[in-house]
Amino acid sequence: MDKEKFKALVIRQVDKKAACAFEDLTVEGLPQGDVLVKVDYSSLNYKDAMALTGTGKIVREYPMVPGIDLAGTVMESASSAYKPGDEVVLTGWSVGERYWGGYTQVARVRSEWLVPLPEGLDTKKAMAIGTAGFTGMLCVLTLEGAGITPDKGKILVTGASGGVGSVAVSVLANLGYSVAALTPVGQEGSHDYLKSLGAKEIISGPEWSAPPRPLETQIWAGAVDTVGTIVLARVLAQMDYGGCVANCGLAGGVDLPTTVMPFILRGVSLRGVDSVMCPIEKRKIAWKRLVKDLPANALEAIHHTVPLSQVMDCAKKMMSGEIRGRMVVDVNG
Ligand code: NDP
Repeated sequence: MDKEKFKALVIRQVDKKAACAFEDLTVEGLPQGDVLVKVDYSSLNYKDAMALTGTGKIVREYPMVPGIDLAGTVMESASSAYKPGDEVVLTGWSVGERYWGGYTQVARVRSEWLVPLPEGLDTKKAMAIGTAGFTGMLCVLTLEGAGITPDKGKILVTGASGGVGSVAVSVLANLGYSVAALTPVGQEGSHDYLKSLGAKEIISGPEWSAPPRPLETQIWAGAVDTVGTIVLARVLAQMDYGGCVANCGLAGGVDLPTTVMPFILRGVSLRGVDSVMCPIEKRKIAWKRLVKDLPANALEAIHHTVPLSQVMDCAKKMMSGEIRGRMVVDVNG
């Protein structure tokens, strides 16, 4: 790959509509930043799929190189924190939304956004984890922070066969939690996959598409929710006394039609999880824990790799729920 000229996917606004195309870019044409990175891999997250399909208002500036993740090697650095040859990972910080992201062979970024590639991972494995897997780990840390230990009872993971869900199921099962995976009716094809990741129970049923009663039978000590809306409302209504739900996602919707009953009568807590602005020290902890607690065979089973040329098709499939696990994007493929 020529350092001066390289390929990237660019979203431009044409006649007030977003249009995606592959373009040849030059290093001189990149935005400001103190580190130049040769990108090996990016990944496809739900937010990327929204940006690529023009769903919601993900892209804030045009033209935009999408891709909220990247992993690669430092080519040039004006920062004392990094030198050429260092392998790095970047997730979040509004990259791919407000700042140019990872669907490119070369990126210029801010050093404070980077994390050194954690020992035990290569750039491909780091992107097999990506923002979604990193967020799954943040959810696990959130439950741990709430005192939800494996002896407290069962943990429910919603949107379980998605990127966040798959990593959360694997990590929690590996840590000794009894994990139940919620997957919608019609997704029976995912049951074996979820069990292979360590889920002890598969939860599915038409009741999950209907509003719950304010309080239901207590079932879960903890939960990781990626779906929101009535699914999260039902999860809250089924939490044990003192239980905690870590919510990071809105795959089903942004609303939360619940009541205060689970909070005031059962002491349930609902904790929000954000990966985008997550402080750097917490990032380092989460990546270390991913190396330690996400089994290598699970990571292998969770991800697929596609060349950058196929990312638009994959985005459409992700938005219609046809993608399972994680999608690594090979920007040089
Ligand atoms: P995926 O598309 O990989 O997974 C989403 C999963 O949600 C699907 O696999 C599906 O589960 C389930 N799902 C989708 N729609 C519905 C529905 N209407 N009802 C019930 N389940 C549904 O996405 P990710 O795992 O990457 O992300 C999940 C969510 O988390 C997204 O909303 C994303 O924006 C958010 N997120 C938030 C982050 C943060 O920092 N807060 C960071 C990363 C992600 P199944 O396959 O089992 O049917």
